[in-house]
Amino acid sequence: MADIIQLLPDHVANQIAAGEVVQRPASVVKELLENAIDAGATTIKLLVKNAGKVLIQVIDDGKGMSAKDARLSFERHATSKIKVADDLFNLHTKGFRGEALASIAAIAHVEMKTKQASDELGISLSIDGSVFSSEELIATPKGTSIAVKNLFFNIPARRNFLKSDTVELRHIIDEFQRVALAHPGINFSMFHNGSDLFKLLKGNFRNRVVSTFGGKTNEKLVPVEETTEVVTLSGFAGKPEYSKKSRAEQFFFVNNRYIKSPYLNHAITSAFEGLLQPGKHPSYFLNLKVDPKSIDINIHPTKTEIKFDDEQTIYAILRAAVKYSLGQFSIAPVLDFERDKNLDTPYGYTANQASVPKVEVDRTFNPFSKSSEPAPYYSKASTQSWEGLYVGLESKSNADNFANLSYESDEMTSSIFDDSREHKVQKTFQLHNKYIINTIKSGMVIIDQNRAHERILYEEFLQKTTINEAVSQQLLFPLQLKLSSSGIRALKELKLALESTGFVFSSFDNESLELTGLPLGVKESEIPTVFDQLIHDIETEVPDVNFSVSDLLSKSLAKSLAIKNGKKLDHQEQEYIVNTLFSCKEPSVSPSNKTIFTTLKVDELDKRFNK
Ligand code: ADP
Ligand code: MG
Repeated sequence: MADIIQLLPDHVANQIAAGEVVQRPASVVKELLENAIDAGATTIKLLVKNAGKVLIQVIDDGKGMSAKDARLSFERHATSKIKVADDLFNLHTKGFRGEALASIAAIAHVEMKTKQASDELGISLSIDGSVFSSEELIATPKGTSIAVKNLFFNIPARRNFLKSDTVELRHIIDEFQRVALAHPGINFSMFHNGSDLFKLLKGNFRNRVVSTFGGKTNEKLVPVEETTEVVTLSGFAGKPEYSKKSRAEQFFFVNNRYIKSPYLNHAITSAFEGLLQPGKHPSYFLNLKVDPKSIDINIHPTKTEIKFDDEQTIYAILRAAVKYSLGQFSIAPVLDFERDKNLDTPYGYTANQASVPKVEVDRTFNPFSKSSEPAPYYSKASTQSWEGLYVGLESKSNADNFANLSYESDEMTSSIFDDSREHKVQKTFQLHNKYIINTIKSGMVIIDQNRAHERILYEEFLQKTTINEAVSQQLLFPLQLKLSSSGIRALKELKLALESTGFVFSSFDNESLELTGLPLGVKESEIPTVFDQLIHDIETEVPDVNFSVSDLLSKSLAKSLAIKNGKKLDHQEQEYIVNTLFSCKEPSVSPSNKTIFTTLKVDELDKRFNK
């Protein structure tokens, strides 16, 4: 009988491989983005038309390719990333299989432009369904641009199988976000049908998470850090009350590669045990760094699943680290002040729902009006209310964490500040009309007054705009504002949000704006600055998918109304700032992500005195 086995022609083999590598437009996006990263790009741009069905283009400023490599890159098993089998066990690149470009070129019209820094001219190549159709030398910037058009043009069954544009675009955005989150040190942007969806500037991981998911995300994050021999863990868990109905904000990155792991996901879910409402899923953004030799990435063609040598240990470490961080967060808004022992109840926090500590605030009281007699707000009792929040929470010791600071005992303080004014014990004082200093057991905490107040106001406004509980003060005479018509147009979009913070408008047309009520605590004289700042912020805010009107408004109002550096604060005002700051959800950074306070420990002082 005659021999019947034949080798498949290359283009057929490529089409078959494409079935594995390219399931949908998002798969192409992933492969192209990863190639750009492997090429050392610092800026990567993704252009998409009609959810990738018409065009997917990735432009990078990486190392580019020689003309010969550019042609070769479309061959199957053509890769510059591994040379010998051993390299497979020590991977530092995203790609290594050398089949992405060959597969993509088998099922689409592909145009590549590429140039290395050292070359005068670059090369432009077109390849349609595995067949080269044109090639020329061109002037092009350093780096590579690959445009993939008409995906599955030659496989109608696959093309018809694609979902609606909304669904396919969602998949593309998911891939884009995963890659961008794994590489916060690279600038990424994404455009769909000409409009920009993301503009992510390089920064640290926190910046990247926040710019990817919107400004409000910052408040949700609890840092998770752990270093062990097996794994180094860093990143964030979402506070339990922000947990979601969907699993959209769950991310593991292993050595900067997004992976799916139901097993490790279980570790996180169990760390949240007792803290989540039924049907809700925690958010997390976690980076795991492990020895490349201890994982196997090769088990899945699209490489989102990997195998760890020591999965159980990693499970245990993850679970413990997240649990610890959540415990820290529950006490984080409160410094470990000298606390009333009677308020301490000896139950473990795990048995309880974590709730955001809240201080009852007398919202009708204006802390900065000097006239009235001190409101109950300043009384010792209100201070105790947050000191008492410490109830039932224990923490491991962690020298750098402010959650573990404890206030100096009253006896000690009074011996330093023997103050006979309205407060027997002065715990705070002001330095250079700029910093508020507060003694704590381990030393002192130094607070930037402007940033602290900005944080306080931001959270207050945010709450007002989201739950609509603002109180207005009526103006004696309506206040007319002269603003540019473009300014008024910009403000119009925020009218509802402005009203929810306490502004009352008697007229709001294209030419003029008249106010009859202001949010409580805002002075009439501050209004022009407030609106100027607001218009400026609306006009310069980078639009992003998660653009939130109330966030922008709250940030802007907080910025213009916060007490400035240089303002002298009396003792009550200082205490108000300290007390209110540490009842904020995120006391450590200002709304624009700047450090609000730092600590100086007695140990450090001792060192300086060579003790
Ligand atoms: P792999 O990434 O697995 O090596 P690919 O088919 O994705 O395989 O790419 C083949 C080769 O083409 C890569 O190994 C690399 O040398 C080259 N290449 C692909 N994209 C780029 C790019 N954006 N910049 C520079 N070189 C690239
Ligand atoms: Mg690749």
